[in-house]
Amino acid sequence: MPKCIYITGGVISSLGKGISSASIGKILESRGLKVSLMKCDPYINVDPGTMNPFQHGEVYVTEDGAETDLDLGHYERFTKTETTKFNNVTTGQIYNAVISRERRGDYLGKTIQVIPHITNEIKDRIKKAAHVSGADVVIVEIGGTVGDIEGLPFLEAARQFRLDVGYNNALYVHLTLIPYVKTADEIKTKPTQHSVGKLREIGIQPNILICRTEKTLSDEIKEKISLFCNVRKEAVIEAKDAQTIYQIPLVFKDQGMDNIILEHFGLRHKTTDLRRWKRDVVEKALYPKNRVTIAVVGKYTSLQDAYKSIYESLIHAGIHNDAKVEIKRIDSEEIEKTPPEKILKGVSGILVPGGFGYRGIEGKIKTIEYARENGIPFLGLCLGMQCAVIEFSRHVCGLKGANSTEFRPKTRYPVISLLEEQRKIKDLGGTMRLGAYPCKLKKGSLAAKVYKKTIIFERHRHRYEFNNRYRKVLSNNGILFSGIYRKKDLVEIIELKGHPYFIAVQFHPEFKSKPDKAHPLFSGFIKASLAYKKPKG
Ligand code: GLN
Repeated sequence: MPKCIYITGGVISSLGKGISSASIGKILESRGLKVSLMKCDPYINVDPGTMNPFQHGEVYVTEDGAETDLDLGHYERFTKTETTKFNNVTTGQIYNAVISRERRGDYLGKTIQVIPHITNEIKDRIKKAAHVSGADVVIVEIGGTVGDIEGLPFLEAARQFRLDVGYNNALYVHLTLIPYVKTADEIKTKPTQHSVGKLREIGIQPNILICRTEKTLSDEIKEKISLFCNVRKEAVIEAKDAQTIYQIPLVFKDQGMDNIILEHFGLRHKTTDLRRWKRDVVEKALYPKNRVTIAVVGKYTSLQDAYKSIYESLIHAGIHNDAKVEIKRIDSEEIEKTPPEKILKGVSGILVPGGFGYRGIEGKIKTIEYARENGIPFLGLCLGMQCAVIEFSRHVCGLKGANSTEFRPKTRYPVISLLEEQRKIKDLGGTMRLGAYPCKLKKGSLAAKVYKKTIIFERHRHRYEFNNRYRKVLSNNGILFSGIYRKKDLVEIIELKGHPYFIAVQFHPEFKSKPDKAHPLFSGFIKASLAYKKPKG
C-alpha cells in the first residue's frame, strides 16, 4: 500500500486545493517519488458529465474516457501522473455501488449505514486507486470545505484510513485562509483556528497547514497558528498569492514541505530540485519577450473555470513561444448583436471552444467566417469544428441553412449529425463518445506538420460527428480532411487550404497540454498568431 496524503480545505472554497494538491505531487516527484492524485467530490451526481459548466466548471476527460472534475486537469498538468476513472470518486458513485449491493442481497440482512458501509466503500475506492496506480505516494483531495454536511463521510473515511494503514503511512494537509483586515491592518488567524478545530472534532489533526494569504506571515503569526492549531511551526506553510500557479511548487519546496512529508513517511529519497521547472516554465511565464492577444469566443466565457484547460493550454503555448498570451473572453451571443470586426478588432488569433445546445451558435459561426475571410489564425475545438463545418457549408459550398441536427433536427443539409449507434441512446450520463481514440494524419497537412507524426491519440467528448455525405462537396471547395479515425472513417480534423492557420478538431487537445510540453496544435496556433500581421488602422 502506498503512503497516503489527504488534503482538506477550510474557511472558504476556491482557495486552490487542486493546485496545492498538484504542487505537492510535483515536489514529491522532484524527490524521485512516483505519485498519483485523486479527487473525492461530495456531490450526489455520479460524475460532472451532466452538470452545467456554470455550476461546475469544465468537465475534464481522462484518457480512458471518464468525465471528471477539473482538478484532475491540474494533476496531469503539474505531474507525470495519468489519471483514469479511478481518480475521481463522488458520493453518487459510492451510494450507487452500495445500494446495488444491498439490492443484490450482498449484505446478508444487515442495516446499511454511513459508518461503516459508506465509509468502507470510500476507503476501498481510495485503496483500489492507490493500488492500480503503482505509486509511492497517493494524494487524495477532498472536495468542499470542512464543515459541509455532505463532506462528512469522506472526512470520516480519511480519519479511519490512518487506523487501517498505520500512523506514519497517512498524512493530513489542511488548506486554510488567513484573511487580512484592512481597517485593523492585521491578519487574522481565528478562522483557521476554527477550521482546524472543526477537523479535530471529526478526529483529524492536520500535520501540515497551507495558509493562503495576501501578506507575508511573520514568525510571530506562524507561532500563534502553530500553538493554537497544534501543528509544528515549520509545517505552517505560507502560500501567498502568486503571479502564476506554476510557481506554487517552488513556494512549497522553498519552505521544505517535501522534507516534512518524507520525514513523516520515513522515506529517504534523493534530493533533486525544480531548476528546470523554474527555468523552462516559471521564468518563461513571468518574463516573456512577446505578447499576443487571442479571442476565445464561447458561451461560458464569464466563468473563469468553464474553459480551464483551454486557457491553460494557451498559456503553455505562450511559454513555448516566449510570449504572454492575453486572453480576450468573448460571449458568442455578443457577436450575434454586434459586427465581429468591432469586437474582434486587434486580436491575432481566434479560438472557438466546445459546447452544447443552440444558444450562441450563430455568433460562433459569424466569428469563424470572420477568421476565415480575414486570414486570422483559427483553432476550433469540438463544437468549434462543427461550427466551422456549418459555416463553410453555408457560405462557401452554397448549402443554405446547413446545420447540425443537434440544433435543427430537420435541417435540409445535416452536415453534422448523429451516428446510428448514438441514435438509440436514451440516457445522457456517460454515453457520449468519450476518451482517447487514434487518429491518422494526412501527410503534408498542417496537422502532420505541427504534430510531427502521423498517428495521434486525442480525447473526445461529443455525440455528433461530421456527416461523411458532405465530404466531397467540402473537399472540392477547399477543406482538407487531415485527420481520420480509420476504424470508423470519422472525420477528426479539418483544415482550410491557403489560410495561414485554420484548423479545427473534433477532439479536445486541451486535455493533453502541459506547461513544459505545450500541445502542438496550441503552440502552432500561437506561433501563427504571433506571425499574423494585423491590418493597419
Ligand atoms: N455538442 C456537440 C456534440 O455533442 C459538441 C460537444 C463538445 O463540444 N464537447 O457533438
